Amino acid sequence: MSTPPPPPGPHPQGPYPPPSRGRHAAGPPPQAPPPMPPQAAPPPMPPQAAPAPMPVPVPAPPEPEEEPEPEPEALAEALPCGGCGAALHYSPGTAGLQCPYCGHEQRIEAPDREVVEHAYKDLKAEKKRRAKFTEQELVCHGCGARVQGEGLSFTCQFCAHPLVVETTNDPQIPPEAVLLFALGRSQARESFQKWVRTRWFAPRRLKKVADSESMKSTYLPHWTYDARTRSDYTGKRGEHYYVTEERTIRRNGKREVQTRKVRKTRWHSAKGRVKRDFDDILVHATTKVPEEYLVELEPWPLKEAVPYAPEYLAGHETVRYDVEPEAGLKQAKKEMAKAIRKDVVKDIGGDEQRVESIDTAYSKVTYKHMLLPVWIGSYMFRGKTWQVLVNGQTGEVHGERPYSGWKIFFFLVCLLAVAVLVGKLVLDYTGDSSSGQGGEQDEIVVESDWEEVG
Ligand SMILES: [Zn+2]
Ligand SMILES: [Zn+2]
Repeated sequence: MSTPPPPPGPHPQGPYPPPSRGRHAAGPPPQAPPPMPPQAAPPPMPPQAAPAPMPVPVPAPPEPEEEPEPEPEALAEALPCGGCGAALHYSPGTAGLQCPYCGHEQRIEAPDREVVEHAYKDLKAEKKRRAKFTEQELVCHGCGARVQGEGLSFTCQFCAHPLVVETTNDPQIPPEAVLLFALGRSQARESFQKWVRTRWFAPRRLKKVADSESMKSTYLPHWTYDARTRSDYTGKRGEHYYVTEERTIRRNGKREVQTRKVRKTRWHSAKGRVKRDFDDILVHATTKVPEEYLVELEPWPLKEAVPYAPEYLAGHETVRYDVEPEAGLKQAKKEMAKAIRKDVVKDIGGDEQRVESIDTAYSKVTYKHMLLPVWIGSYMFRGKTWQVLVNGQTGEVHGERPYSGWKIFFFLVCLLAVAVLVGKLVLDYTGDSSSGQGGEQDEIVVESDWEEVG
């Protein structure tokens, strides 16, 4: 039995939609003569009372396309080139736009506002105002084609026109700030090549691959959080003190009394309160790039970020967030907890600390959606694709890379040779020094674990 294609509208409740009853018929159960004629356009075929006993694979009749087409999402108007009229792209490494065709440069009128941290308590209302994001359909300014793109910005598949989604009524929380690309394509490639050259055990041929590397400029979504915290804690403060212990040993067959200082710890209960203001705790808001790759691109000069303007995205890919701001805050609190714990340990003081409980209250929690610039590339090596990320501000590189089995093999052989040599030398040395103590098995020598303190 052929499955009919899923209708783009709301799905009927049952697992299998009744065949060809139109989209408005989801409510009433199928009955032989409908009690009332349907208000909508008459169905193309009289609805069948029950499916025929034999499942005959009849192709579903074409649905009448009478529903109004869903409104395409709005696009921010692309700025036309003053030289040739083509759409301008944001030019990495500058604060301006450039025409990819005639090279004409144009300044971006930076928005006349500051980057705002939004109150987290207003998040719910903000999200309610914006529906849940499913998919977007856009009409290209350049060629008029209907295009689909997952991101907040991309280029038209047909005419390469730069497209940026208009965020005023976008279902997602729009970016508040953008950290611009400081590195252009050639500088990003240089960073990558430098990285390749300094990889241990990389196959020699990899260094050539780097030259033909193609890189894509991509903005990745992040959340940043600020918060004021007040943490009440309980714990124990340990203070060191020393006691002198005596003990009798045998040395060369004679009894001997020796003393030593031993460190002990006295514990006092401790409790108190620490406060800390957090600023711009960064959380990755996309799961499309592995977390551990992104961590390696840090730190980011977040203070350099500018207020969001769609022009900065023109001609570049922008990934939408798929980590919701609530989940992001949870992650941010984990980061904050690490710093708070350090504060608590410091506050307890003494020589050693035990933290038993920390109870943190958060106030003035704010969030913002921030886009960070990353050059993303991949290269083919030995039939496999390897991914590379370059921090578009600092040139920091994270990459996947192949290892040369031969180089590692020879390294291990050398390592083994050195180990054998060292081992032999050590054996020779200890063999000489221990030659004088033959036979005295019962002698207790404790000098080696005798720790002189003070
Ligand atoms: Zn131009
Ligand atoms: Zn187009």
